[in-house]
Amino acid sequence: MTPTRLLVTGGRVLTMDPALGELPTADVLVEGGRISEIRPAIDADGVHERIDAHGCLVLPGFIDTHRHMWQAALRGSGADQTLAQYFTTVLHTQAPRLTADDLNLGNLLSALGALDAGVTTVQDVSNVAKPTEEHTDALLDALTGSGLRSVFAYGHGTAGDARRVRSRRLHTKDALVTMALNAEAGSDDATRRNGALADELDLPTALHVRGGSPVSRLRRLGVLRPGTVFIHGTGMAAGELELVRDSGGALSIAPAIEMTMGHGLPPFAAAATAGLRPGLSVDVEVAAPSDMFTQMRAALQVGRFAVLQGHADPAAPLLTARQVLEFATIGGAETLGLADRTGSLTPGKQADLIVLRTDRPGVAPVYDPVAAVVSAMDRADVDTVIVDGRILKRAGRLLHAGLPGLLARAEELRARMTDGRPAG
Ligand SMILES: [Zn+2]
Repeated sequence: MTPTRLLVTGGRVLTMDPALGELPTADVLVEGGRISEIRPAIDADGVHERIDAHGCLVLPGFIDTHRHMWQAALRGSGADQTLAQYFTTVLHTQAPRLTADDLNLGNLLSALGALDAGVTTVQDVSNVAKPTEEHTDALLDALTGSGLRSVFAYGHGTAGDARRVRSRRLHTKDALVTMALNAEAGSDDATRRNGALADELDLPTALHVRGGSPVSRLRRLGVLRPGTVFIHGTGMAAGELELVRDSGGALSIAPAIEMTMGHGLPPFAAAATAGLRPGLSVDVEVAAPSDMFTQMRAALQVGRFAVLQGHADPAAPLLTARQVLEFATIGGAETLGLADRTGSLTPGKQADLIVLRTDRPGVAPVYDPVAAVVSAMDRADVDTVIVDGRILKRAGRLLHAGLPGLLARAEELRARMTDGRPAG
């Protein structure tokens, strides 16, 4: 449902826009999918839909800067895996068994899990083989049908298929689903070809980097491009994060996965030293939950742990709850190059916003709304989710038709992948 004039009334509004700050009680008016006004006591004349947010917090939706969404089809199957085990099991054994229909299921489940948790934008780093156009379209159809704002970072297919997606399906820069390239570094020639394709299609790129000097290498090969999202950035040589900054690139940190799978220390202190504000990311749902509350808490915990226990520069400032909330909202939008559209509640931006309840027993009383979001809340506190002016969750309930059928398909897939063994 897309009401043309929608009013969210009476909430405590954390705009995450430094110029607007926090409003103790205000209304948010949405017109034609955009935020048009934020102030107390907006006239409700001509409003088609009202959402009562009294006693609630109103925030921009969360932004996940890197997730391999198809893996929702395999949720929780790799919680004990190291990175090497994940490559063997998930990427090389399970992925080849998935049909185009299974990939559609994975992407749609991931999108709905995100929306349910108040995540309104996800970059889908699509690292699954695309042997046919049908596979690509199955992944993409799930994104476009979900209502989520997303960046489809095309990967593991052919240049011809990427050109087809760009020219026929994702050619508009301000659409709800936009395109990037998953440009993992291979041989020098392959890396140059990826850079040339990104230039030809006028697309940003995303790639995983760990250790060594991968950013310097891209510069040496002449393909260090502005707008590149560098994923993880753990354990890199001195100066690499500064090179990310100077090239107009961005950093996506997945703290929960980096700790459990062994990527290395999530580089929050190093990013701060380099003057980079990172975005956060879920990465893989085979081992991490799909919400950003978990990622914010993991970031705050490991960021402070590293400095306090001497694993990072002891002179680095201690990470705060407000900073990690920025990482999960406006910082994520900056990381994806979408800060002109989303990431804060700013008149003129698209209406991607969430209403969080504060009257639940695990949250009240609220001394500090930022701390409440970061330290006490979870997806059960997400009352309303609006993307691009469309209400996708309301009164705690996801409004996706066909959810029971989707869950039944997920169980069928699980049974097939485990050769009929019961769960557990
Ligand atoms: Zn990843």
